[in-house]
Amino acid sequence: MISEVKFQRVAFLRATIPNTLQGVRSFQGEILSGSGNTTFDVALGSQVLVPLAREFGVNPGFGYYEEAHHLEYGDENALASTLTRVADTRGTIVLGLNLLNKFLAIPGGDFAVMAICAHEFAHIKQYGLDVKHAIENGLPPYCIELHADFLAEYFIRIFSERVPQTRLQVIGEQWSKLGHPTKTGSHGTSAQRVKAIEAGFEFAKRASSRNVDAASSAGYQHVSQYQV
Ligand SMILES: [Zn+2]
Repeated sequence: MISEVKFQRVAFLRATIPNTLQGVRSFQGEILSGSGNTTFDVALGSQVLVPLAREFGVNPGFGYYEEAHHLEYGDENALASTLTRVADTRGTIVLGLNLLNKFLAIPGGDFAVMAICAHEFAHIKQYGLDVKHAIENGLPPYCIELHADFLAEYFIRIFSERVPQTRLQVIGEQWSKLGHPTKTGSHGTSAQRVKAIEAGFEFAKRASSRNVDAASSAGYQHVSQYQV
């Protein structure tokens, strides 16, 4: 269980973020407006979702879904969809309750949820950008995930300034468990994912250039190293 206070105090991200997080064209399943834990929902909204929307300049709908009803997306997942399902929003993010509850059962798992949300908001940001087409037309498919990782860590850097207890090195350790040890697959290798977040972190350090569109361009430059 989580509270707003915990978001400000917990210092560890011990959970492994699953590597199945993905962007999808459309999610048409049932969307739940609450997780069943109102305290958590309020904290997530005020401390993560609203700052993410502001920082990335996007306005997706956000809700939860039950993975058991949509196993085509895996048994623990979060999705960013181009389909608008909530009035006055654009695009939709759904967080699976299995995934959510798995992380909330782990000390510090709330930071994992924050990182997942940042990755999914990055996909929503990508949907409106030319860089998405450039990646899809010129680079291996996993580069869209590495680009989302870059943008996610850009946000995490900013979040960590608001929450100084955030243990960035621990997040990095956990991110190293993402992806495949050797194969690029759909989400890149572990080493590629860690390099992507390190690059996003470095970019966000420079306050003078802290702008999500500039970050997106820098992220594109970063993933262009994987051009074949
Ligand atoms: Zn993704």
